[in-house]
Amino acid sequence: MLTVKDLHKSYQVGKTTYEVLKGVSLSVETGEFVAVMGPSGSGKTTLTNLMARFWDVNSGAVRLGGVDVRDMKSDEVLSRISVVFQDVYLFHDTVEGNIRMGKPDATQEEIIAAAKAAACHDFIMALPEGYQTVVGEGGSTLSGGEKQRISIARALLKDAPIVLLDEATASLDPENEVLIQQAISALVAEKTVIVIAHRLQSIMSADNIVVLDEGRVAEQGTHEELLKRNGIYARLWAEQS
Ligand code: ADP
Ligand code: MG
Repeated sequence: MLTVKDLHKSYQVGKTTYEVLKGVSLSVETGEFVAVMGPSGSGKTTLTNLMARFWDVNSGAVRLGGVDVRDMKSDEVLSRISVVFQDVYLFHDTVEGNIRMGKPDATQEEIIAAAKAAACHDFIMALPEGYQTVVGEGGSTLSGGEKQRISIARALLKDAPIVLLDEATASLDPENEVLIQQAISALVAEKTVIVIAHRLQSIMSADNIVVLDEGRVAEQGTHEELLKRNGIYARLWAEQS
């Protein structure tokens, strides 16, 4: 179980402090699928970074199975959470090396299996040197969708019990969209999943939808419950559909 208790986070810009998360609490049971949504700037990406402990909270706590992540070794936190971000950063390394980061002692077979499940194998084989092609800064350029699928292959290989996914906001071409959805379905199967959702489809099927607004949880519940409430969620839903 992952719990977030009364999280506060501020950014300092020049001499001004902006409080971006103003006491966010939520809890995710093992095996649950939770969607976090809300207007742009409401704090979703900030929350993701805190949950994966890329940054420390100003106050409040993130707990994994009841233990504060600050009391865990960072390797331990990382072994329990896979993160797939909006803006994927690939390291200046081979394609194989970039996928292997998910599990340093993986065999070649495991790497290929993860790449196939994440719909990467075909485009990788079409690169000049296949899995040995160097990507990242100064290396071969990959499209945003391809980079994201590589990061999903990395996460699949890692096989952590919790998956934290910040969906891409940029609209992808339909073919990429289908491939990414296929890769994500493989990644989230039988996992505890928290998705920062931008697509109606991911939101509708969630066990719980947490709506952030100006750094606070404005409302939460299932799709039906939130529609009945006729609040922010219902309004955003009406705008999008
Ligand atoms: P969301 O993902 O919901 O769009 P973010 O968590 O990215 O929201 O951002 C929330 C607010 O924090 C925004 O107003 C944003 O401008 C601000 N912010 C995000 N990152 C930083 C940063 N590194 N420094 C200063 N302000 C930031
Ligand atoms: Mg964001």
